[in-house]
Amino acid sequence: MPLNPQRTIDELKELRDLTSDDNGAQRVAWTDTWLKAREWFETKLAGLPVEHHIDAAGNNWITLPGESEKALLLGGHLDSVPNGGWLDGALGVLTSLEILRRFAEEYNGRPPVTIRVVDFADEEGARFGRSLLGSSAFAGTDSIAADRVRTDKNGIRMDDALLRCGIEMDRFPEARREQQNAAAYLELHIEQGPVLETLGLPLGVVLGTKGVERHAITFHGQEAHSGSTPMNARQDALAAAAKLALEIRTIAGKHADAVCTMGSVKTFPGIVTAVVGRCETTLDQRDLDAAVLATMYAEARDASARFAAEEKCTVEWSRIWNIEPVPFHPHLLALCEQAVLETAGRSHRLPSGPLHDCAEVARAGIPAVMMFVQSLGGISHNKIENTKEEHLAMAVTAMDRLATHTVEWMQRS
Ligand SMILES: [Zn+2]
Repeated sequence: MPLNPQRTIDELKELRDLTSDDNGAQRVAWTDTWLKAREWFETKLAGLPVEHHIDAAGNNWITLPGESEKALLLGGHLDSVPNGGWLDGALGVLTSLEILRRFAEEYNGRPPVTIRVVDFADEEGARFGRSLLGSSAFAGTDSIAADRVRTDKNGIRMDDALLRCGIEMDRFPEARREQQNAAAYLELHIEQGPVLETLGLPLGVVLGTKGVERHAITFHGQEAHSGSTPMNARQDALAAAAKLALEIRTIAGKHADAVCTMGSVKTFPGIVTAVVGRCETTLDQRDLDAAVLATMYAEARDASARFAAEEKCTVEWSRIWNIEPVPFHPHLLALCEQAVLETAGRSHRLPSGPLHDCAEVARAGIPAVMMFVQSLGGISHNKIENTKEEHLAMAVTAMDRLATHTVEWMQRS
């Protein structure tokens, strides 16, 4: 049978029925439900002329050997957040499998290049707070010493949880071997945002993943009695923080795709009868352009100092985490656009705010690109996450075309 997008949709539903409850998907990495999802996936390989194994970081690799050892990688992740959706991650893995089946059939089990499907382990970081775990080990950007001592909400250490699944974290570096002969990586994912739906487009080309600057910002003022302290004598830490919360809209608004979010505010002493003496906030800034990100960070720092001074307060910053933007491969972007145009008639290029395994693969120096399919209501990481079935079918078809174009490009270069 040639490419069968309906089979992918049916398999996604099968997986959903097997690994979800009333609250949504429960395929959290390193749990029994995740292992059950992988066992189910294993049954789908029966009869295919493939080799498969789990690498040292828990990534699952399915290889269809070709005439050339040069490999086209297709991937996603079967793990989900708790109470997650049916498509996040799984769409990428099952579409990849369908494309591998098509190559196997079309070329009598021996395509011109090697086709490899990967199910990356623990993309979500839902249990231990460490996203992109398996793909970072693959890329060699892992942080084993810092990660192994992470604990879940029950106090179980990450290295113990992985060992239960047969993975020794000390051996993570061996996962880099899987990079051998990798010539390109393609990933299909739901958009998880509202852009494509707003534009009325089923599919989009992902330019790359945005860089992130994430900081804790604390304003220090003076606690004082709310009744006896005149307005002009106050050092109100919340007032300074509030000005910054509004200013970041202006800072982000100068750039087309930039976003800035103050997601957390804690006031101390935090009672109704006291002026706020200390206000702890967080700031998350994202953009695809490193220069834009650096400018936004500098502007937010300057603004915070200005507002602190206006309110007779002081401010301190400490970086929680950051990652540079990862632009995807220019030629693969062009091929992806071609595949989207051939399938949907119209295309749109957009950056990804969320991180994806594809970014780690690109950081390893492997040409990589992602395609997005529209998300209804832009909702994800929730059981109501959904995409129209006609759009899912188009996405499988477009990815298959992208795979064909990419194989031709690999053969030429
Ligand atoms: Zn995902």
